[in-house]
Amino acid sequence: MSVTALATTGTAHAVPAATTVYRGRFAPSPTGPLHFGSLIAALGSFLCARHAGGEWLLRIEDIDPPREVAGATDDIRRTLERHALEWDGAVLYQSARSEAYEAALEQLRINGWLYDCSCTRSEIAARARRGPFGLIYPGTCRSGPLSSLDHRSLRVRTHERPIRFTDLLQGPQAQCLQETSGDFVVRRADGLYAYQLAVVIDDAEQGITDIVRGADLLDSTPRQIHLQQLLDQPTPRYLHLPIAVNALGEKLSKQTHAPPLDDGHASGNLWRALTFLGQAPPAELQRSRPHELLAWAQQEWRLETIPQCGSIRLEP
Ligand code: GLU
Repeated sequence: MSVTALATTGTAHAVPAATTVYRGRFAPSPTGPLHFGSLIAALGSFLCARHAGGEWLLRIEDIDPPREVAGATDDIRRTLERHALEWDGAVLYQSARSEAYEAALEQLRINGWLYDCSCTRSEIAARARRGPFGLIYPGTCRSGPLSSLDHRSLRVRTHERPIRFTDLLQGPQAQCLQETSGDFVVRRADGLYAYQLAVVIDDAEQGITDIVRGADLLDSTPRQIHLQQLLDQPTPRYLHLPIAVNALGEKLSKQTHAPPLDDGHASGNLWRALTFLGQAPPAELQRSRPHELLAWAQQEWRLETIPQCGSIRLEP
């Protein structure tokens, strides 16, 4: 396959020209500084894009102010820069995208896919069946909200046809949403937009062709494909990387006390992340500059050697 790299357009909002064959992205939530787990997603998506001669964009998913940590966005940008993970174009901030999310909700409503839901958590818990990833919404408000409560969430209808896709690392996937999540929330009762909606609208807006991220999001992908289909948007290719887990099998995160990346050891961090991703960087590159290490990795990047699993336990 021949690969045409696009010149940077200078705007993250531009729709890709017909020649773009690869546009990837990293989409962190500013809930704290980056840790080793986030570096794996950033580095994996960066290398897939650069190895293909494509673009790599940065999007800050700041749609949930209560979970945000002051200064986290600046920390994230600085850590990426110190690790020589340089993005193309302007950064897209989800906090500035409400109009686009409202327009998508309107389109769903006009086409009959959206409904108001007045259920509280405890009402759902009392009626719902448990599915493989949590409670399945029992459809209580499908034909109209049960109570006249002012604070209502918005749910999107699901159907009984399985959503199928082939993950470039994890292989063929299928999920029947009525058996996993049921009709799901796209705007919460507190007015905040759900991740599932925002991510779909912005991946389309940024013209993303390839989504490379942690396997903890594999289960969310069918909900995102469902929304793409309802909104007539293309479905990108997906590749879900193994995530790093601690000795207790928990995903590295702020909640599990994953330490922030030390920007002073950028090459060592990158070297460890490359090894985690099944690459074999030469030992001497541990002491090189991040740019040199990434130049090697971009050239030598091999999908075939990434472990085909959902998670890998880090040695203490
Ligand atoms: N913002 C999400 C997170 O930090 C990732 C979204 C995505 O890559 O689709 O977990």
